[in-house]
Amino acid sequence: MVAHRRPFVVGVADLLRRAGSSRFEVVEAPMEELQVIDTRMPGGSTVHVEVRLESLNEGAVARGAVEAPWAGSCRRCLKPVTGILRSDVLEVFEAAPTEGETLLLDGDRIDLEPVAREAILLELPIAPLCREDCRGLCPTCGADRNEVDCECAEAPADPRWSGLEGLTFDE
Ligand SMILES: [Zn+2]
Ligand SMILES: [Zn+2]
Repeated sequence: MVAHRRPFVVGVADLLRRAGSSRFEVVEAPMEELQVIDTRMPGGSTVHVEVRLESLNEGAVARGAVEAPWAGSCRRCLKPVTGILRSDVLEVFEAAPTEGETLLLDGDRIDLEPVAREAILLELPIAPLCREDCRGLCPTCGADRNEVDCECAEAPADPRWSGLEGLTFDE
């Protein structure tokens, strides 16, 4: 067995022999880092894939979900935030795949890693919040408003416009 080297590669010979048969498959293994903007799945994170595999004419379908941890920064206060993402997946594997639509059925094996990778990249939260009501940082003094109430005015006047106050327009 070399399953530990490519843990997301799954044999489906049993399904291909019997049209209409299906099987539940769970794979849990570490993956390399993925990142979108400032949010990433740290390298070595355990990715959980659970799918129902069904045989098709000349192929197989994988339908289920991917779960993976992520880490990023709160978009308001910049504190580190972590979470678990979950994404539904539905992929068709064929011996002669259509680019961008179906994936390769390689003999009697399929690789769930690109399925997991794509699902994670789509689901990484690019603007996470530490909590729904995070009050963020004061734009004037930078204080964390979740922790302190600074004395800054709520909406300081934009200095670019102050010189225009009192200006009159004459012909
Ligand atoms: Zn926050
Ligand atoms: Zn302030």
